[in-house]
Amino acid sequence: MFIAIDETKCMGHGRCYAVAEDLLSDDDEGFVAERGRCWELPADLVAQAQDAADACPEGAIAVTETAAADA
Ligand code: SF4
Repeated sequence: MFIAIDETKCMGHGRCYAVAEDLLSDDDEGFVAERGRCWELPADLVAQAQDAADACPEGAIAVTETAAADA
């Protein structure tokens, strides 16, 4: 599974890294530091990734079976 974070949608609400602290982190301005990236998830972090996607009010996080082309 892959996670992709759309940097154009991220508004810095900070909910994603609060529920996925093993996977995501915050930058100095409160945005998720990994925005704009797409990467393959270790199996043990898929659940956290899904929690982060569910928590994001902007729909900026996608958890998919294949790598997103436009993350
Ligand atoms: S919850 Fe969504 S909008 Fe907020 S920092 Fe995370 S990705 Fe960005």
